[in-house]
Formats: sequence, structure tokens, C-alpha cells
Amino acid sequence: MRAGSLSDHSLLDYMLHRAAVSAPEVARALHVPPSTAMSMMARLVRRGQAMRVPTTDLPDETTPNNAASVANVAAVSTSRRGRPVVAYGLRLPAPVAVVLFDGSEASGAVVDAGLAVRGVRRQELAAVEGQAGAIALVERMLARVLPAAGLARGDLAGLGLSINAVPLGARTLASSVLPWVDASLAPRLADALGLPVHLVLTPTIVAEHRLLPEPLPGSMVYLRVGDGVSSHFIAGRRCHAGHGSLAGELGHVSLEADGPLCGCGRRGCLEAWCSGPAIVRAVREDLRAGVASTLDAGLLQRASARAAVDHIAQAWRAGDSLARTAMDRVFDRLGRGLAIILNLVDPDLIVVGGYVLRDRPEWIEEVRRRALPWTLHAARRENPLRVARATLEDELRVIACHYHYPLAGKTPPSSALEGEAKRGANDESDPDSQPRRRRARAKPAHRAKSASPARSLARPRPRPRKKLRSLLA
Ligand SMILES: [Zn+2]
Repeated sequence: MRAGSLSDHSLLDYMLHRAAVSAPEVARALHVPPSTAMSMMARLVRRGQAMRVPTTDLPDETTPNNAASVANVAAVSTSRRGRPVVAYGLRLPAPVAVVLFDGSEASGAVVDAGLAVRGVRRQELAAVEGQAGAIALVERMLARVLPAAGLARGDLAGLGLSINAVPLGARTLASSVLPWVDASLAPRLADALGLPVHLVLTPTIVAEHRLLPEPLPGSMVYLRVGDGVSSHFIAGRRCHAGHGSLAGELGHVSLEADGPLCGCGRRGCLEAWCSGPAIVRAVREDLRAGVASTLDAGLLQRASARAAVDHIAQAWRAGDSLARTAMDRVFDRLGRGLAIILNLVDPDLIVVGGYVLRDRPEWIEEVRRRALPWTLHAARRENPLRVARATLEDELRVIACHYHYPLAGKTPPSSALEGEAKRGANDESDPDSQPRRRRARAKPAHRAKSASPARSLARPRPRPRKKLRSLLA
């Protein structure tokens, strides 16, 4: 192994989780002297893997219920002594197309080498006709995104795809939200597009973590309530993916054995009560049963779950009794879910996102209040909740970064889950992707965790050498 390459992997790995870093921050994070951090950063800049980024002020402390966007840049512009700090961010070797596919919305864009997000397109989805429908949708999305970004397919290194799914072992992919998802999706998509396709399964928590100001919290949970319910977490700057990349599936904690059927096949899961589609389903049933309401039954039938939840939220604010009763059921159960997180993980910070709760501080407060009776020593705990701040563009950037740097910690993508185009449109035009793709083919898929590049911090990290640790003690 080339001298310095291990620490460079650690630095790339760290930079995946930070929108902008300074050399002093790197020195603290990787337990190396500042001069070493400077030369590591200079090496990445020379190789075109990192770049200077503009600095803007960020709040020194996390602000509860602060929904302001801090897209594009996140860096502390001055040190505590007021000296300007030079900030660095990742740079990509080539533009990459990105598609974020949730149950109720698909978004796409191209992320260029300087991490600018170009040609963003969003499309609400009422329903997707199986895997073939999803592939057709991604093709249409790419056909709209590329001209908007002023690029051609041959300019791309490939496609980074994020979908609401979890890997089950090295060769299987499953989703409680998108029942047609399986391991054949990425290879079929790669064939259809003529581009390599890499899956990035949990970009949102990384997007949120990238925006946190220093000092970073020791642990952070991202509670997501959208088309699914999950609570992934980062502890000690490492995503905890679990043994089989299944950690954080709060949505499938069953609260009632005879509750509604969940997409995972079991009953009474939190997700079966509290996800966007579950909320809409329950409200529609109430309307069918003749409960009086101002809600528009036709809209709830036609619209995407996202738009339908917006409609229910409007009615809730206006005091509609059906919306109030329905959301009471949801808040009660989300409160129990939140208490489970607090009792089990006791994190420094819980970022709350997903389209059900995002930008609805009054709903988050309902959930927080209803968690109290279920929370151990509730009165002595501080409120660790904060509203999610990462924008769609921030998430798309994370997908692009993980497309190019899945090997930051030497974890090859699983050939079973990643799609390699047989005749890549840019096979000759992207020299950087060639060695990486060869490496990916050369190694058998043997590690489930490799299927989730956004959780790549889960692998063991080399401990700092004793001498360096003692220097910093
Ligand atoms: Zn479930």
C-alpha cells in the first residue's frame, strides 16, 4: 500500500460526512498533528479529490426548530480567535447523474465536479407500475435533467440511485415501501441507460451530518417520517449500520400485534400507523365510514401521499375534527417511537425530517410531548430535537459523492447490487471510473454492508497510532 493512502482514505471518508472542513478540524477528527492534516489535504487537492470552498457563517450552536436552509456551503468562516479559516470540500472526478426515488416522489439532477447541483427536476408519484415502471421513470427523468444541466449522457460517470430500501445480505434488496424493489433493479437500470449505476441507500442522515457545525455531537439520530419510518444513527462520527445493515429500522418496531398490516408483512409496525401513506389510508377509511370532515376525499384518493398529507395538515390547522383525531393516533404512536430512541440510544441530537414532520414544528412538538410519559427520566433530559435542514440538493450531493467515493474506506460496492452497464456510454471518456469498476468486478460480493455506501462509516476504522494519541492527550 502506498504511503499515506490509509490516512487519505480516512480523510475522504471523513469529508464524505462534512460539507466543508478545515485542517484543524481534520487534525482533531483523525488524531493527527495539524501539519499532517495540512499535507493530507494538499495531497487530495493535487489529485483533484478536494477543493477550496467558500465559507459562510454557521450558527455556533444547533438551533431547535430552525428550518432555515443552509444549502451549498457549510463552514465556519473564522476561528474562535477571529482568524480566517480555509475550508475544503470534496471534489468529484466527473459529473454524475443522481436520482432519489422515494415512494411518493422522484427527484433527479446532475452533480458536477464542483458539487454544483444542476437541472433539478422533481416529480410527485401517486403510484409506480413495478420495476419496469421505475426504470422507465428514471430514463424519462434523465432525459429531462441532462438538457437542463447542459450536459450529454457521455459526460457522465454514471448514475447514483437512492431508493427507499435495505440490503438483506449481499445479494438481496428489499423495501417495505416499494414492493417491486429487488437486487435486479440496478443491473437492469444500468443496461437500460448504458451507464454504471451505484446504489446509495441512506443519504439523508449523511446530508444532515454534513451541515452540523463544530463541535460535532457525539451521537445523532435522524428520525425520518415520510413514505417509511426510520431512525438511523451516527455515533462517534460513524454511521451505525448494524450487522446486516438493518440498524435503525424503528418503523418496524411493532406496537400492537393486531394493528394494521405493514409493508414488511407483519402487523402493528410503527410505519403501518405513522408513515405518510399509512396516515392517508387511515383518513380515507374514516371518510368512507362516514365521519364528518372538511377533507376532500377525491383529492386524498388521487394525490401522492406527500400532497395528501399536506391537505390533512391544512385541515388539522383549521381544526377539522377528523384530521385532529387521525393525527392524535399518529402523534401518540410517534411519541412512543421517539421514547424508544431516547431510552435505547440517548443521543446528543435527534434531527427530525421526512415530509410528514418536516417544516411542521407544531406536529414535532405534539410528538415530543407525547413521548414524555414513555421516556425514562423525562424530566431530567434536555430536548435534543431539531428540525431537519438538509435540502434536496444537499441529499443529491451526498449521492454523487458516494457514487465516486464508495471506496473511501476500501469497501468495494457489491457486484450483486450495483449495476454495471455492459456497454457504458462513457467507457473511454471517464478514465477515473475504469480502475474503480475493475476493482469492483474483481472482488466477489461478500459483505452485506458494502451494499450501502452511505453507511460506509460502519466498517472498522484503524485506531490512531499510540504515539499520535499520546501527543494529543
Ligand atoms: Zn413493518
